[in-house]
Amino acid sequence: MKRKELIVATKNKKKFKEIKEILKNLGLDLRIRSLLSYKNLPRILEDGKNFKENAIKKATRIAKLSGKLTLGEDSGLEVEALDGLPGVYSARFAGKDKSDLNNNLKILRLMEKMPLHKRKARYVCTVALADKEGLIAVKEGSCQGLIGFKMQGRYGFGYDPLFIIPKYKKTFAQLGPKVKHKMSHRFKALKKLKNILKSYFKN
Ligand code: IMP
Repeated sequence: MKRKELIVATKNKKKFKEIKEILKNLGLDLRIRSLLSYKNLPRILEDGKNFKENAIKKATRIAKLSGKLTLGEDSGLEVEALDGLPGVYSARFAGKDKSDLNNNLKILRLMEKMPLHKRKARYVCTVALADKEGLIAVKEGSCQGLIGFKMQGRYGFGYDPLFIIPKYKKTFAQLGPKVKHKMSHRFKALKKLKNILKSYFKN
């Protein structure tokens, strides 16, 4: 039987923590490590034109270099009124001063005068699974929300202080991981990989 090991091809600690928690909640008992545990493995340049290209590149490159089963994940925020931006540029939206705070402030600035009904947005997450033989599966999940008028809450990361879940009238940063991990883009994408991961380790 194959060893139940999985590398998550990211150096983003907060994203990695979420992926670990979600996989555990899905009942997958795996030894999961991020690129931070493998100093000899490189960070993969995200130069794809969409989430799918980036997720596949991360998974296949790291799987080939490490010889281990690898999960590549690419995700971001798409704001309807900004024609889908920041999209694949989510992590670096504020340019050279990129940080979660500056990225959020840029969104607020661009949307300053927009009324609530024009503030529709969605989070998108694409996950790709690969081993040394090549790509195994690609899945996507998304989650609808509204962009708030100010940052609220202290949980999560990235745009969570702005991302309001209409059903709760609160941001993901206010709602915290218990709620987020049951409905997020990342949860929905990873849930679609559950049976694929299970059968991979069975064979
Ligand atoms: P990347 O996948 O490493 O390019 O980073 C994705 C970026 O999208 C993050 O740095 C965040 O800005 C944003 N993002 C993706 N998922 C989430 C989320 O669950 N909450 C908040 N921001 C997110």
